[in-house]
Amino acid sequence: MTSARTTKQWQTLDTQRHLHPFTDFNSYAKNPGRIISRAEHIYIYDTDGTEFLDAMSGLWCCSLGYSQPEIAAAVNAQFQQLPYYNNFFQCSNEPAVELADRLVKITPEQFTHVFFTNSGSEANDTNIRLIRRYWDLKSQPKKRIILARTNAYHGSTIAAASLGGFASVHDQFETLPYVQHIADPNWYNSGGDMTGDEFGIAAARKLEKRIDELGEENVAAFIAEPIQGAGGVIVPPDTYWPEVSRILKERDILFVSDEVICGFARTGSMFGCQTYNTEPDLMTFAKAVTNGFQPLGGVMVSDKVASVITSSGGEFGHGFTYSGHPIACAAALATLDIIERDNIVERVANNVGPYLQKRWTELSNHPIVGHTRGIGMIGSIELVRNKATRERLEPDQNAGAVCREFCIENGLVMRAVGDSMIISPQLIMSHEEIDTMIEQATKALDQTAQHYAV
Ligand code: PMP
Repeated sequence: MTSARTTKQWQTLDTQRHLHPFTDFNSYAKNPGRIISRAEHIYIYDTDGTEFLDAMSGLWCCSLGYSQPEIAAAVNAQFQQLPYYNNFFQCSNEPAVELADRLVKITPEQFTHVFFTNSGSEANDTNIRLIRRYWDLKSQPKKRIILARTNAYHGSTIAAASLGGFASVHDQFETLPYVQHIADPNWYNSGGDMTGDEFGIAAARKLEKRIDELGEENVAAFIAEPIQGAGGVIVPPDTYWPEVSRILKERDILFVSDEVICGFARTGSMFGCQTYNTEPDLMTFAKAVTNGFQPLGGVMVSDKVASVITSSGGEFGHGFTYSGHPIACAAALATLDIIERDNIVERVANNVGPYLQKRWTELSNHPIVGHTRGIGMIGSIELVRNKATRERLEPDQNAGAVCREFCIENGLVMRAVGDSMIISPQLIMSHEEIDTMIEQATKALDQTAQHYAV
């Protein structure tokens, strides 16, 4: 149990003892964070009792909000029945088997198997291991290069961060030598004078060009998020995915769809690959599979890959102590029950998704909003000083951090990626709650405009 402390005491202890992810430790020590002590529905509360509407669903994971007693009850029941057992050495457990079967049934038809991990990062490491094993068993040992995209986020282990496309992260360790990056399809930043559709085709053809330069016989796989989340909610132009699909169909390389953010209804289909009509051979999932209540991730494996890796003997030397943890799997089963019972996919596709997009697009009338993007229950806006020239509010893209602080002042958690403000709100929001969120965001935009004298 935690002891009773004042906010100040919590903050002091936090800065003295706790190294936070993706945090500047030096500046955090001087400017400690909010200590979140409870949550309800779409709101979080800090130790001072201040309420915030959490427009990020935690870290894109609590898609059904914080109040889901059935998930807690399922976890509690599993604690009583079997709190832990592993899936190594000829053993399995009931929730893991049940969840594997359930996931195969709700994912696109090519998927026949699942490998469980604890996180999206570990799942992407697993992808690299599966890809290598597949090509070895197919007697194509030259196929080693994995292509990814700039501004992609695939996780934070050495392998997953190598797949990710952030130069500032790559500068801090030695990346895997067989991962290469092509440019991401961010039309607003890189499209120049091209229309969105022209840019989408041009961005896709970068993949074709790179594969052909490297030689198809040397390329093992291409990994991509349907919509790049942490990179700034990069919703690609409509022409992008059909052209990428054509390029992949004409070549024998594996395609991994990283659905850690897009999975489980966020884009208005159960998975982002269904929204964009792509056909992945491997699919990464995590986060919303347990509504963020338990750590669980995994890889959906298609029949094409599974039939090869299960047909030959020899151990697959990979796995985690908590792969298929019974409590995490019980949480996932309860989460999937709610997604199905409450028709969450249909709700996002035909109700709250279109409503959010309508209200979100209206923000483009604001003087400092240069562009809005979004689909389903995900969105981003670009902050600018001059809409016509796309000039930013300050040269080093710090305006996002300024706007984020104004959001907090107005009781709203919105994330900043450079000068993109991004949201990934709960799929269970009502129209009135979406209106409140837009009102809070508008106030923060007004204050940001005033701050920069626009
Ligand atoms: N892939 C994507 C697309 C993600 O957004 C994330 C996390 N934000 C990950 C992988 C890594 O997941 P985790 O933090 O669970 O390791």
